[in-house]
Amino acid sequence: MPNLPANTAPTTNKHLIRWVEKTAELCQPDRIHWLDGSDEENARLCDELVAGGAFQRLDPVKWPGCFYARSSPNDVARVEDRTYICSLSKDGAGPTNNWEDPFVMRRKLKTLFKGSMRGRTMYVMPFSMGPVGSPMSQIGVQLTDSAYAVVNMRIMARIGLPVYAEIDRDYKRVVPCVHSVGAPLLPGQQDVPWPQNDTKYIVHYPETREIWSYGSGYGGNALLGKKCFALRIASNIARDEGWMAEHMLIVGVESPADVEGRTEKTYVAAAFPSACGKTNFAMMIPPVGFDGWKVWTVGDDIAWIKPDATGQLRAINPETGFFGVAPGTSNKTNPNAMATLRSNSIFTNVALVTEGGQPNGDIWWEGMTDTPPAQALDWRGEPWTPASKTPAAHPNGRFTAPARQCPTIDSAWEDPAGVPLSAIVFGGRRATTMPLVYQAFNWSSGV
Ligand code: PGA
Ligand code: MN
Repeated sequence: MPNLPANTAPTTNKHLIRWVEKTAELCQPDRIHWLDGSDEENARLCDELVAGGAFQRLDPVKWPGCFYARSSPNDVARVEDRTYICSLSKDGAGPTNNWEDPFVMRRKLKTLFKGSMRGRTMYVMPFSMGPVGSPMSQIGVQLTDSAYAVVNMRIMARIGLPVYAEIDRDYKRVVPCVHSVGAPLLPGQQDVPWPQNDTKYIVHYPETREIWSYGSGYGGNALLGKKCFALRIASNIARDEGWMAEHMLIVGVESPADVEGRTEKTYVAAAFPSACGKTNFAMMIPPVGFDGWKVWTVGDDIAWIKPDATGQLRAINPETGFFGVAPGTSNKTNPNAMATLRSNSIFTNVALVTEGGQPNGDIWWEGMTDTPPAQALDWRGEPWTPASKTPAAHPNGRFTAPARQCPTIDSAWEDPAGVPLSAIVFGGRRATTMPLVYQAFNWSSGV
């Protein structure tokens, strides 16, 4: 890496090394860090985020291994209106997406990314969506100037050394992803993982299978394996290869034991738009009247579905974590989510509980408990009490929690062959009432 401090690249793949060099020439970071994905490295990044003020460590007894973060107020959610599918033809973007000519967009982005990482580290983050080595998995490499994005992605996807090994074996499968919060640092300025203006571009080139994300540090805008890759680019790959990448949860529904003690597990996927409660559905506890039934969690957001050699649909959850909405989540509404997020999780834009004006290492959001804390700092860092007129947590405040910690995680959730799907539920949310059940008369009426 000419003239740039960098640790040793854990790959011999010259295409990857050349692409990292070229991107570094454009974005001009101060240094390059090839991530190995280890616990030690993660601890070091979290320490740095704490030292820089972007993270606060929570109470190690109440919230072991957990951190608190506050985004900038203009960077609190995905930005659909700034999200582009830059296919060669406008039709290729689909009817509900923003389109821009890929050549025009490339020129625009080149200007924006030029020097955008100045003063910062560019992290090289290889990731596998789906179990490493599974024939149903896909690999990407995200270059990012945000340590916040790295430590969140480490919960949401499989990253690090095993993925370089996969890349060295077969480079063709890699989707390049470039991410910059677009806030170059002046000499001596503290690293903050949040952009300083409203210029945001979340861009996909479906033909060349590239992702470029500029100007946001938050959620699906910055964790490029999630919506950008696992939904948008993957649905393109899937269309070409004969499978599907869908915004669906996956659950295993286990029947009560029969007289011989045998149970039967049926896997079901369910499609709902954002903010319908897929995470809660995926961790459902069967209600009274369904005694003996069990619901097991495979995934809460994204399903990759492929027919196997016998024609049976099989599904994997390409992710390894839950990026869930915190407000409304409680031991009453979703005890499984609460148990999952108790440790090793990151909380963004919820409230910090205070005592005598000082954070006491505890957090809170609307709906977490019946009784709110007497005082807190809200998601903007302003003093808050139950008498305040504004919410303590941002309505889109989030937890990033490891799926393996979910008490109902399915025994086959990491099966490289996926789980066999028996049904797909479609749902949505409406402002007006409608019949709960419609009959589909044929495939065209049903789809
Ligand atoms: P969601 O995704 O809206 O589907 O929960 C949020 C995100 O990825 O930022
Ligand atoms: Mn979603």
